[in-house]
Amino acid sequence: MRERCADAMLIFGKYGALDLFITFTLNLLVRVFNLKLKSLMDDMAVHGVLGKSIAHVYTIEFQKHGLPHAHILILLRADDKFSTSEHIDKFVCVEIPSSIENPRLHDIVTKCLMHGPCGIENPGAPCMESSQCKKMFPREFRTETTMNVSGYPLYCRCPGDTAFVRGREMDNRFVIPYNPYLLLKYNAHINVEVCTSLSAVKYVYKYINKGFDCANMVLTAGQVQDNEIANYIDARYVSAPEAMWQLLGSYMHDRSHAVMRLPVHLRNQKRVTFKDGHEEEALEAARSRQTLLESWFQLNQSDPDAQTLLYTDISYNYVYDRKAGEGEREEVTK
Ligand SMILES: [Zn+2]
Repeated sequence: MRERCADAMLIFGKYGALDLFITFTLNLLVRVFNLKLKSLMDDMAVHGVLGKSIAHVYTIEFQKHGLPHAHILILLRADDKFSTSEHIDKFVCVEIPSSIENPRLHDIVTKCLMHGPCGIENPGAPCMESSQCKKMFPREFRTETTMNVSGYPLYCRCPGDTAFVRGREMDNRFVIPYNPYLLLKYNAHINVEVCTSLSAVKYVYKYINKGFDCANMVLTAGQVQDNEIANYIDARYVSAPEAMWQLLGSYMHDRSHAVMRLPVHLRNQKRVTFKDGHEEEALEAARSRQTLLESWFQLNQSDPDAQTLLYTDISYNYVYDRKAGEGEREEVTK
């Protein structure tokens, strides 16, 4: 997972800051979720319903209650980036739609895209910490959308329609940002945020720091005994939906670009793999074969063009012939 996070950082480092952070979850069978996820990614990456995408990554997370979440990061081409508040307002909405003019969208938003209730009226809500909502709801009313310095915009939220949600009348300050077209098409929780902060990449791959879901359990035959050590078996917890997702061979993460991991090693300390009893043969083969790093050094000795390129840029201009173990020049296609 750490490597995949580094790959994602590399993609956004090369092609530019990301533009959209989408969270998608569905209270349905994982097969249906997977079909809708594929269709959603087609809408984003192929049809460009929120703008022409040039790169994306996503990860699937199964939270404690077992439902799948897709966290999707999208990078748009320069012409489609969200550079004005009017552009943001065209694609992202944070207001309760009219129940008369758009009843279906109203139902979906009030069912899937309302936060809380939390705050003073519900201090025991799971999002509450030190008497404040961790997600910073309710948000303030605003008459116009402005870009925030932390990479997230402050959306236009005018006092408008209200709705009864989970036993309380709620207004636009509790609406989670969404795109009307995607909600109507997929009838699911799809949170669409305009986002330019690279910290979202770390959030998407948060399992690096968080670790996998765990369960504390003990299996005993016969009478249960109080055994303090047995009580602390550290086990990975896999919910039924996640088990089904894995059995079906569905992807836990995906990305738009292939990333080549370049080997780095000290002189005469390259990695050698061998089978038991064939150590000498493996060492002999390794002596006569160059790694990518060694090939790059050799290429620099004879090719002035290569001397202008960093190790990380070499694969955009040259191909590595694994059989020959040395770099060979190819025509650069533009
Ligand atoms: Zn809250």
